[in-house]
Amino acid sequence: MTQFYDLHCHSTASDGALSPTDLVKRAAENGVTILAITDHDTTSGIFEAQTCANLLGITLINGIEISAQWEKLGIHIVGLNIDPENSTLQNVIAQLHIMRTERAEKISQKLAKKGISNALESVQKVASNEMITRVHFANFLVSQAYVSSISEAFDRYLGDGKAAYVSTVWTPLETAVQAIYAAGGVAVLAHPLRYKLTATRLKKLLSVFKNAGGQGIEVVTGRYNPDEMRVLANYAMQFELAGSMGSDFHSPTNQWLELGKLAPLPEKVKPIWELWQ
Ligand code: AMP
Ligand code: MN
Ligand code: MN
Ligand code: MN
Repeated sequence: MTQFYDLHCHSTASDGALSPTDLVKRAAENGVTILAITDHDTTSGIFEAQTCANLLGITLINGIEISAQWEKLGIHIVGLNIDPENSTLQNVIAQLHIMRTERAEKISQKLAKKGISNALESVQKVASNEMITRVHFANFLVSQAYVSSISEAFDRYLGDGKAAYVSTVWTPLETAVQAIYAAGGVAVLAHPLRYKLTATRLKKLLSVFKNAGGQGIEVVTGRYNPDEMRVLANYAMQFELAGSMGSDFHSPTNQWLELGKLAPLPEKVKPIWELWQ
């Protein structure tokens, strides 16, 4: 049977718009047969997603997208086929929860200075005990009509260097990779072209990532064009990394990033799923 993979997406456990159940349903409707749920810095959506996947007969891969630090840059490392209960991984998650809570307090203080009050209380209500992300603040700013769109919220307040931006030092790259490995998973560098690095710097990152125990890079994502995919396939070969594919789906309102609507993995690239089959 031909399998259709989507190994990167978000639910309400982090900054996605759909509950884990609705996410799995939508993936199944779109023809995905093997789905990884990869919420930012949390595994809390997995149990519900697994329950729904069992009902619908699609395969769920346990995943996470860890916020990590490489030098001055924040990067994202996807962990696939992890044991969500692993204590090393859960320790990293607990630290990230603290970092995100502290950051949210600071973002809220910066917004208050701009005359926007009650941001923290509002996002905490929505996120309950889940990870608070900048998307939660963006949704709050839209709902209170301080801005008219999510992208305006990032452009004016939440984006890098903007009025309510708070820089964070995330989990060190090596710690993130080791935690994924400890949890029995494979570490994948997410969306390598989104960090806006020069080729030299990206190659440096890939070599550091590989030396730390990283095993894959995303070669196919919802946003890349064929030229970019070729570049990434070549990096996969050069650094002997397996290739992953995932939409990075967050919300049905974002039309150009749909679950499961992905080009096939280039044939010369070793598929990441061979590492756990
Ligand atoms: P955080 O991890 O809390 O810093 O939030 C980052 C998340 O915000 C990313 O994972 C994206 O989902 C989202 N995001 C970042 N930049 C933008 C943007 N310009 N417009 C919409 N969403 C964004
Ligand atoms: Mn996100
Ligand atoms: Mn990401
Ligand atoms: Mn993502």
